[in-house]
Amino acid sequence: MENAVKPSENQELDTPSYLQRLNEPQREAVTTTEGAVLVLSGAGTGKTSVLTARIAHLINSNKAWPNEILSVTFTNKAAREMAGRAEQLVSNADGQGNGPLPWLGTFHSISAKILRRHAEMIGFSSDYIILDTDDQIRLIKQILVEKNIDPKQNPAKQFLWSIQNWKDKGLIPEKVSHADKMITGGKQVHDIYTEYQKRMLNMNCMDFGDLLLHCLTLFNKYPDILQKYAQQFKYIMVDEYQDTNIAQYLWLRLLALGHKNLCCVGDDDQSIYGWRGAEVGNILKFEKDFNGAAIIRLEQNYRSTPQILAAASHLINYNDTRLGKTLWTDAKDGDKLQLQSASDSEEEAYIVGERIEQLRRNDVSYSEMAVLVRAGFQTRQFEERFLTLGLPYQVIGGQRFYERAEIRDIIGYLRVAQTPADNLAFERIINTPKRGVGKATMEKIHSAGRAWNISLHDAAIRLIEEKQMRGKVADSIAFLLEQFARWRSIKTTLPIGELTDMILDESGYRAMWEKEKNAEANGRLENLRELVRAMGDFEDLSAFLEHVSLVTDIAEANRGDDGQMVTLMTLHAAKGLEFDVIFLPGWEEGLFPHQRSLDESGKEGLEEERRLAYVGITRARKQVFISHAERRRFFTKGGIEWQSTVPSRFITELPPEHIQSQDHYSKQQYSRFSQSRSNFADEMASVMKNAGGSFGGLPKKPKLPQESRGTYSPGTKVNHAKFGAGIIIKNKDDALEIAFNNGETKRIMAEFITLN
Ligand code: ATP
Ligand code: MG
Repeated sequence: MENAVKPSENQELDTPSYLQRLNEPQREAVTTTEGAVLVLSGAGTGKTSVLTARIAHLINSNKAWPNEILSVTFTNKAAREMAGRAEQLVSNADGQGNGPLPWLGTFHSISAKILRRHAEMIGFSSDYIILDTDDQIRLIKQILVEKNIDPKQNPAKQFLWSIQNWKDKGLIPEKVSHADKMITGGKQVHDIYTEYQKRMLNMNCMDFGDLLLHCLTLFNKYPDILQKYAQQFKYIMVDEYQDTNIAQYLWLRLLALGHKNLCCVGDDDQSIYGWRGAEVGNILKFEKDFNGAAIIRLEQNYRSTPQILAAASHLINYNDTRLGKTLWTDAKDGDKLQLQSASDSEEEAYIVGERIEQLRRNDVSYSEMAVLVRAGFQTRQFEERFLTLGLPYQVIGGQRFYERAEIRDIIGYLRVAQTPADNLAFERIINTPKRGVGKATMEKIHSAGRAWNISLHDAAIRLIEEKQMRGKVADSIAFLLEQFARWRSIKTTLPIGELTDMILDESGYRAMWEKEKNAEANGRLENLRELVRAMGDFEDLSAFLEHVSLVTDIAEANRGDDGQMVTLMTLHAAKGLEFDVIFLPGWEEGLFPHQRSLDESGKEGLEEERRLAYVGITRARKQVFISHAERRRFFTKGGIEWQSTVPSRFITELPPEHIQSQDHYSKQQYSRFSQSRSNFADEMASVMKNAGGSFGGLPKKPKLPQESRGTYSPGTKVNHAKFGAGIIIKNKDDALEIAFNNGETKRIMAEFITLN
């Protein structure tokens, strides 16, 4: 490096552009390069901007080559954004445009990269497979069955929770103390953990937690390898520091403790991953471990209007456990936050759709609007509405492309082609399409595998060779195994798209869907085509499989021509992002704050929910629309049920002076909408309207008068203006189920019928 050509260190430069716009404390955070720095401050104060400027500064002032910088971001998307900016700077720095890039990524992706290089040292091979939750559960179930533990009484998910909990703390099975065992599930759970890790190693698989855990093992076991990375990464920085867990903290400490050039930025009010083992306590540990760290506070918010900021600050003040901070802005006054009451969840989606169209007409770009929901299921309602309106949208973090069944199936084939020992993938595809492999055959292969201590794939081969398995089923398995041998032999010579196409044809998988000839199957075939198309971007199979495992926001690939789309995503996924306009629907007790958080974690859970609300509001630059539906539809075993809701307590925690409440939608607009809705929903909504719910108090639940309830008992003959005569078969709460003489059965509010 000494001999390399670098721009002169003493070159007289005006303040470089990346420093120019920064305020004083931001500049301090950027230029305090030596030693530990902790930036703790509220939303929108430029924490992420500081990290990006720091990368620029380190490169520009010749303190480090790009690849000597490690920057940990929270999502792969954030990493890509940072990489884009860094790339420009790198090309400026080395004057040739092809310098090595900084290491940017999530804890997981960076660990994966390190492990690919050294997997052999800890007993894996470098083409290890990363498993997702589905596979993890399947593996745990297998273990439970073998150990005669009834998964019905001891759900695999619970075991998984404990295992992850230990991994979040950086504890391999041998390191779990007796006390820890007892707290997190007991001896039996710990035994399963031990067995689980053993199987994962045999199959050359890792789960997400393992990426960190094995990296820690690698570093602890081989100080020289740790040393190599600790020396390479002269400067380390971390965004969204408040959400790191213990394992991640240990990882950082190992890498940074030597030179202590570690810069972490975060906001305790945005800690929203308690359930994933995030530890706000890491902030306190930081001050202890990195004694003398510079603590910098940023107080000026550059993102939002004063109204938005005031609302968010007012709300978060209801939390007791927080460090507390001041936030101000010199931005111009903006609009008040709007609160909208909707009759039901369909109307809520309708109203949001209308607003979006209105904003679009006022020249707000679709990509500047986002709908942030508390629970994944909420997006469906908006998706349907947006589809009806032809409104371009993307779902981030929902049912993702790579999670669809047909994609997972074909990836199963690829995984076996890559690693025959991948039992989970093997089991997934051995009878898809149908090859007559039933439960008995599968059990036979399983027990042979266990007895011989080999993979299912190898066990099947041996069973067939030794003629312990014969007949038609054995023939078709033998045929499949031969195919795999061939695919494996050509996998390095063929582009992976072609290989996949070949597997799709030869395995009969594509034909299986072609036979179905319906819209759903067509969609699946389309997805498979899209998959083959997407593969063009990858060098080889293992690069592709790694991508599949790590990709988190693939929905972006669906962007329209001009790239403008409304974004639909969960509040959790929205951290760190910003949009002009934010819609926050579903502010109802039980949904937000979420009942599960309250039940499981009491006050702590409530405070974390409130932080989520804070994150939601502070994503907005200009406008915030909060809404709640007075009724929500739930799918139960007995069919569709409507339930009344209570507005979220968070609504009452907003400062009234910055809020503008909208009552129900205007009659005129609503009647337009109602034409496109189901009869039941129409009626339900207008009943709600008559009942006059409003934002100030709880919505009034439309109850039938006592006397009429008795009248509408099952068996009563009734009349409806549109459906004619019928007979009541059920009276649930305030909705009647009526079997009409025309053969239809409908749910109708009592108000809309007359007695016959
Ligand atoms: P969050 O807590 O939500 O992650 P943050 O603290 O990381 O927020 P940034 O996303 O870095 O904040 O910045 C918020 C917005 O303010 C961005 O649009 C950024 O470009 C802008 N910004 C940051 N610093 C300045 C500055 N000194 N002058 C003008 N704009 C700024
Ligand atoms: Mg940020």
